Amino acid sequence: MCRNYSWIILLPLLFSCWGIAASEISAVIIKSPAGSWSVSYTSDTPVASISFQRSPDSSRVKRWKTKSGDFKVFKVNDYETVRRVDGKLFTQVEFELTPTYTHLPKDYAPFSPFTDGGMLFHSGRFFACPDLCDDSLNEWHIRIRAAKGDNIIVNGVVYTGEASWVDSDSGQKVYVGKREPIQSENFVSLIDAGLPAPLKELMSQNLPKILSYFATRMGALNFRPSLYASYSQSSDGRYGNQGGTLPRQIFMHWYGEKAIEKLDQNATFWFFAHEVAHLYQGRAGNVEALADAWLHEGSAELFASISYSEIHGNHKIYLSKMEKAKENCLSSFGTETNYRKVALTNSKVHYSCGLLIFDTLNNELDERNSNVFLLWKAFNSAVAKGKPATAETFVEVIKSFVSHTSWLTLKDFVANAEFNSSQFFQQIATNKSIQPTTNASAD
Ligand SMILES: [Zn+2]
Repeated sequence: MCRNYSWIILLPLLFSCWGIAASEISAVIIKSPAGSWSVSYTSDTPVASISFQRSPDSSRVKRWKTKSGDFKVFKVNDYETVRRVDGKLFTQVEFELTPTYTHLPKDYAPFSPFTDGGMLFHSGRFFACPDLCDDSLNEWHIRIRAAKGDNIIVNGVVYTGEASWVDSDSGQKVYVGKREPIQSENFVSLIDAGLPAPLKELMSQNLPKILSYFATRMGALNFRPSLYASYSQSSDGRYGNQGGTLPRQIFMHWYGEKAIEKLDQNATFWFFAHEVAHLYQGRAGNVEALADAWLHEGSAELFASISYSEIHGNHKIYLSKMEKAKENCLSSFGTETNYRKVALTNSKVHYSCGLLIFDTLNNELDERNSNVFLLWKAFNSAVAKGKPATAETFVEVIKSFVSHTSWLTLKDFVANAEFNSSQFFQQIATNKSIQPTTNASAD
């Protein structure tokens, strides 16, 4: 009895020593029978403010309405926070949510509606902390209450009507709705019945091919991923598609009628291949630093490109994609030559400039009887052994794969704030090989 008691006292200490702590704010998400969504946050001890762990923009200010006029959401620097207007302490605050599809910069869409009223939401959107979030917090208590007959899929388990769990890291996509997941050889999937038949056909034909292609090059997955594909109309005329992956999950959303009216088969294949590539990137794909996003996005673009060319036996799409990547990457540098600064205002360069880097690396690897898949596998093993998924680790790994000159130049690209990235990308776009830049470190 006494020993158990000591453990209860010791455990929080141990967790904080390991750098893991639970947020003291718990979230209850409620989907009403009429289909409206709300969230209530509770703290055991009174707090002056509650902040959100992920605030890629200030959209909560518009899309989250406090149920009481006593509260207000503010954007402060790079985070959003809720406080009482009179500044007093509080223990609970409730919001009415806007459950429509919206794109968040460099983050997952909070809600992806299905045409039958089902919903996929991102749990990470609801991570909140007393006062300010800091890096030590990585346990988030979430409960959801939906309609009695609703299926709720959390961590791959199907619950009915209600579920609660402790979340962590970047969170996960949670499904709430009437549909039953379909178990197939490759995926546990939930596909929106409202998606047009040709698109569903493209998925059923191409996804297994892409999976088996990557499994051969990068090793089979040791789990069966969940696949969510949804569609919603848009009221503002916007249309498009967006996909993403989280551990063991892949999700794709189409919005606006035009997005599904005339399907571009090549672009759709590329979209699938890019997302599936992320699944196979493994833990090395969990690159946290936004400045390093060229690693997982650039490589996913190249993996998509190689899989397209090899599965279809044609390089045309790859060549046109490379041309566009060159245009986009090179035109993004004006007087600013620091890649990180350029990427901060234009995250698309991670895809285009990242593709240029990986394509160039692949040329060099090819001459050395290697390839980017082997390189990525080595990067992945380094991360599996405890190295962080960062550009620095990537540069360490790549040392034994490329020439010393290429390695030094890449090292400079990653570590040297004075590095002229504009010149670097001009060079690799022209020569298709990594050349030393004028300001590269001397060996
Ligand atoms: Zn991606």
